[in-house]
Amino acid sequence: TTFLGLGLDPLIVTHLRTKFTIENPTSIQRAALSAILPESTLSRDVFIQSQTGSGKTLAFLLPIIQDLLPLSSLSYIDRSIGTLAIIIAPTRELAKQISDVLESLLTMRLRASENIDDEANGPRLTRWLVSGLLIGGATRAHEKARLRKGVPILVTTPGRLLDHLQNTSSFDVGKCRWLVLDEADRLMELGFEESITGIIKGLDGRRKLAAAAAAEGTSMDVGGWDWERRRRTVLC
Ligand code: AMP
Repeated sequence: TTFLGLGLDPLIVTHLRTKFTIENPTSIQRAALSAILPESTLSRDVFIQSQTGSGKTLAFLLPIIQDLLPLSSLSYIDRSIGTLAIIIAPTRELAKQISDVLESLLTMRLRASENIDDEANGPRLTRWLVSGLLIGGATRAHEKARLRKGVPILVTTPGRLLDHLQNTSSFDVGKCRWLVLDEADRLMELGFEESITGIIKGLDGRRKLAAAAAAEGTSMDVGGWDWERRRRTVLC
């Protein structure tokens, strides 16, 4: 089976070939994409188990990119959209590695359309989607400022994320659709179980807030994209 055969968007497939020289999915990517990409599986959580080096990072990043791709049909970038995907890794090093792969993915070019200007080969996805790395290297104040501005895809270590969920009031996770726990077993071994539970609670709380706001007619129109579809958790 090819990436196209699994339902991956042709733009992403082209980018994988040109930027990563990746042509065909690994076996864990085939399994993960066939479990995650079909619309019919949207409300299911996913557990991905495979050895390091088997292509696990792309197995969870590709479905997230594909899911968020419709945002690029918007004519303007609304950073107040908040955080749509959160990827948690047990160590700073791992978070940095994931963030690097993600940033390379986000440089992909999109086809031209009438509400996009005329960059020669189409604009890059980074015009709509940026990623942020939260690993406690920067000052808390600096991180807060970035979160307030809006970070659509966040790669983070658990302690720092929980800290911001509890203390950064305008960090908006009400529309978060993806929660990835990479090396979930190691997260537990390292004693992050309580933080993760706190994070999940924090997300649920905000989610209820967002739903309440929507009922009052304050929800945002994002090009017919259905935000009410359930959030998905991916354990790796
Ligand atoms: P990971 O298991 O995610 O750490 O990936 C290990 C390495 O495999 C990385 O250098 C990836 O760039 C590479 N890789 C991931 N997917 C593929 C693929 N489908 N074909 C060839 N190499 C890949």
